[in-house]
Amino acid sequence: MKIEWLERIYRLFGPDNGCCPVCERQLRNGSAALPVSIRHETPRTILSSLCGECAGRIPWIDEAACLVCGRPERCGDCLRRTNRHFRCCREAVRYDPAMRHWLAQYKYRGLERLEPVLAAMLAMPAERMIGRLAFDAVTAVPLAEERLLERGFNQAERLAARICDWYRVPYVPLLRRIRHTSKMSFIGRGGRLENMKGSFAVDVSLSGLEGREPKRVLLVDDIYTTGSTMNECAYVIRRSFPACEVYGVLLARS
Ligand SMILES: [Zn+2]
Ligand SMILES: [Zn+2]
Repeated sequence: MKIEWLERIYRLFGPDNGCCPVCERQLRNGSAALPVSIRHETPRTILSSLCGECAGRIPWIDEAACLVCGRPERCGDCLRRTNRHFRCCREAVRYDPAMRHWLAQYKYRGLERLEPVLAAMLAMPAERMIGRLAFDAVTAVPLAEERLLERGFNQAERLAARICDWYRVPYVPLLRRIRHTSKMSFIGRGGRLENMKGSFAVDVSLSGLEGREPKRVLLVDDIYTTGSTMNECAYVIRRSFPACEVYGVLLARS
């Protein structure tokens, strides 16, 4: 069944009807107008179901200062990078303590009611990209197998599936992990850049492309930190499909 339908039914009969999906407090007044523009009705409706306080916590990035990585401040990282394989990335929000908390609640505590909210936030940059360029496929950064077993789901894939459903772009599982990378938080920036090398591969057998070469792929992930994951994924996609342009949308820019 379509996710949109489920959401409609859930809104009508679900136990949270009338409660903010983030903090679960009873809604008294409707939340304030959305400060960014999203045309699709479903993500807009989801975001309007937040209480004013939670809606006001979302640190939207309405305008990117770095046109490469989407950062809202000018950024030296992109100037220094000499081997960029993706065209550009955009993020919905800054990765501030509130967003860190929301994402952790969803990823590590399995709070599923946050999933439509996070996907609706991601819809902001995704809608702009998809409105501007035609994509043959949307794909997600795959999770290391160990992480997937721990968590039971890949958050990037879940968010990407909703984007595909809303904007009618096919989801294609293009990438897979090929070796374990140690937890990123324990290594410094240099180590992290090196660490992503050789972590991904294109798996055309998984992809459902039926021998077609994708010309433009939209890559989805949750957090942009150094861009090394995005870059490595774009690199392997372009190694298989040299003419393919890779763009990225992510939930948060750290
Ligand atoms: Zn709330
Ligand atoms: Zn940048």
